[in-house]
Amino acid sequence: MTNHMSRAKAATIDVRIGETPVGKGVFVTRPYAAGEEILVFTGEEIDFETSLAKGERECDAFQIGPNRYLDLDIPGVFINHSCDPNTGIRDDIRLVALRDLRPGEEIRYDYSTTMDEDHWEMECRCGSPKCRGVIRDFKWLPKELKLELMSRKIVPRFLIDAELEGGRLTMRHVLAADACGRLGRSVTPRTQNPRAAELRV
Ligand SMILES: [Zn+2]
Repeated sequence: MTNHMSRAKAATIDVRIGETPVGKGVFVTRPYAAGEEILVFTGEEIDFETSLAKGERECDAFQIGPNRYLDLDIPGVFINHSCDPNTGIRDDIRLVALRDLRPGEEIRYDYSTTMDEDHWEMECRCGSPKCRGVIRDFKWLPKELKLELMSRKIVPRFLIDAELEGGRLTMRHVLAADACGRLGRSVTPRTQNPRAAELRV
């Protein structure tokens, strides 16, 4: 707990937790410009088995790699899903605004951009006209949507790797979507990955 408190104090995060039609949610308390970082997700790193052991709180685990999860801290744990979100995950753990945000807006991201586990699904009640009905793994999204999300640089590297390894997307798709990004470390060089050299193009 002490550890958790000190982490929460260390960061300046301009958000508050409030009530929404689907339970608690997170709201910004100042304007944000498109592309601006709102927070960095933090939490104890756990594996898949440990996340399952949480029972109903299983969905508090935020996937960051194959068999790697963050047991999310507050406030990240209270951010809701939307199929048409106003924020997205950049560089695996940074939450950025996808458009300009007004103070008081609830922030939501697309949970499917953090999921590749063949386990958890949830009926979606995000209410967006673009609602897909069910929140499920990235692999099940329509290809056009995957490419759009990749071109917005909000698909974590482990999901792109899973697409390539599963043969659902090719390196040509990844490069065409410029999913590697120009802004820093979207692509983490992984020397054990034979594709790493190609991905640094
Ligand atoms: Zn939805």
